[in-house]
Amino acid sequence: MTMVEPLFLKSDFHEKIWGGNHLKDFGYDLSSDKIGEYWAISGHRNGISTVVNGEFSGKTIADLWKSHRELFGNQEGEVFPLLTKILDANDWLSVQVHPDDAYARLHEGEYELGKTECWYIISAEPDAEIVYGHTATSREELAQMINAGEWDKLLKKTPVKAGEFYYVPSGTMHAIGAGIVVLETQQSSDTTYRVYDFDRRDDNGNLRELHLKQSIDTLTIPGDKLPSNETKTEEFAGASITTLLKSPFFDVYKWQIHGSHSFEKSSLYTLVSVLEGAGELEANGQTFEIKKGDHFILPAQIEKWTLSGNLILIASNPE
Ligand code: ZN
Repeated sequence: MTMVEPLFLKSDFHEKIWGGNHLKDFGYDLSSDKIGEYWAISGHRNGISTVVNGEFSGKTIADLWKSHRELFGNQEGEVFPLLTKILDANDWLSVQVHPDDAYARLHEGEYELGKTECWYIISAEPDAEIVYGHTATSREELAQMINAGEWDKLLKKTPVKAGEFYYVPSGTMHAIGAGIVVLETQQSSDTTYRVYDFDRRDDNGNLRELHLKQSIDTLTIPGDKLPSNETKTEEFAGASITTLLKSPFFDVYKWQIHGSHSFEKSSLYTLVSVLEGAGELEANGQTFEIKKGDHFILPAQIEKWTLSGNLILIASNPE
């Protein structure tokens, strides 16, 4: 029997009205100057990743979820539950909210999940900011302020810088601002309710659709009740390991490698994105060169692995 390898992936780019060309810094060939999202690790039907190495080369994550569930530790569920994206916000994204699982299933189809997400800020221009939360204290007040377009009063803005991390549970009012590149770890969902889109028009002169009823239904009240999230860092000889988040849907870690560090599996499987540097991944007796812009899954059959080099990675695993 051959040893199971890490699953290295190639994935889809998505053009967006707010996108740019910063993702070429990851070594990607971009077909446009309006690339907003790279769905780096995805089993979602709107942009599925394909394995590029080993015995599963050419298979998508959705194929493997269906026919090789053992790679995912036989986790239950209709769909691969996680999605990792890199976003280039050259302009503001719409101000938006995502539903929870129950609302998504009821209103968007039985296989659509809700969307809790989180952001690791890869880079941010000096005055970059995000919308994170709102000021309404009742659903009536929220509806009144949305319908009156009182955005300056309603939306809470926060300045951001590279290296910060934000947890955005379903129900949170949010928008990523201009001049920010983020790695997003989220539930595998493509349901977004737009609250406000800055009255922007696309190249054809069209406004994008808003979803005010669904937004008013799903926004958390009061809107400034944001989760507190403490990160913690452990220092080792060859690595700094930071726990960015433990949530009901996923855990997220930052691994900074400066030398060599060995890991032991602590969850069913692990998603990994290389954000900086170059080095090596050793697993099941094989060695793989890795570099900035690579994304891979460590399947359930990899119990131990070693990373060496100078690297910054973001890892996540299901709950
Ligand atoms: Zn969002």
